[in-house]
Amino acid sequence: MELRMQRKALRNALIEKETIVEALGRTQAELEIANRMLEEMATTDALTGLRNRRSFDERLVDEFESAKRWMRPLSIVMLDIDDFKKRNDHFGHAAGDTALREVASLLRTAVRRSDMAVRFGGEEFAILMPGADVAQAAVLALRLLSSVRTGRWEHGALTFSIGVASMNLEADRSGLAMVVRADQALYDAKKQGKNQCCFSD
Ligand code: GH3
Ligand code: MG
Ligand code: MG
Repeated sequence: MELRMQRKALRNALIEKETIVEALGRTQAELEIANRMLEEMATTDALTGLRNRRSFDERLVDEFESAKRWMRPLSIVMLDIDDFKKRNDHFGHAAGDTALREVASLLRTAVRRSDMAVRFGGEEFAILMPGADVAQAAVLALRLLSSVRTGRWEHGALTFSIGVASMNLEADRSGLAMVVRADQALYDAKKQGKNQCCFSD
């Protein structure tokens, strides 16, 4: 009698253990999904669906190291919408948001699969081009200038200013140094009248 009761208790304990293990497995799977969603949210720009600056910075570290190791080119195209504040003031913030989404979609279709187009912040976008030298980056930059000029925009013409920097192993100690040069080239494009592309030496 005693033995039978012990066996029954043991069986119940086993069933309980299996139930707990199953529940733990489900919780772990749910946690993994939640983690992936969090990671996706942390690296995606909510308005345009492009990757964000954080994502760009992380990838840049890897691409810079890899380009250096394999002696492969690497370029950055930095792009800023011209006179965007005026556009917002004139047509409203919602119209500005629509334009940002349209620009994102233009970039998405213009870049290669290996390139990474991101919303860098505000009305600024960046494209990381692993394996692309300055000539290839120039082709993309000029194509973007031309497609934005000829594009059909809901609220009148839209133009970009673009700065391009290609990896220079002697000058660049890090990917960040390339970003600084691309930004400087972008600033030159603004200074020279906007709606154009400048290259960092
Ligand atoms: P510049 O040609 O010199 O770049 O002039 P700009 O007006 O484009 O640049 P400025 O830095 O003066 O203004 C940027 C504007 O971009 C101001 C800001 O309100 C707008 N902006 C930034 N983020 C967003 C956004 O998410 N949505 C909208 N609608 N506007 C934004
Ligand atoms: Mg601007
Ligand atoms: Mg800006």
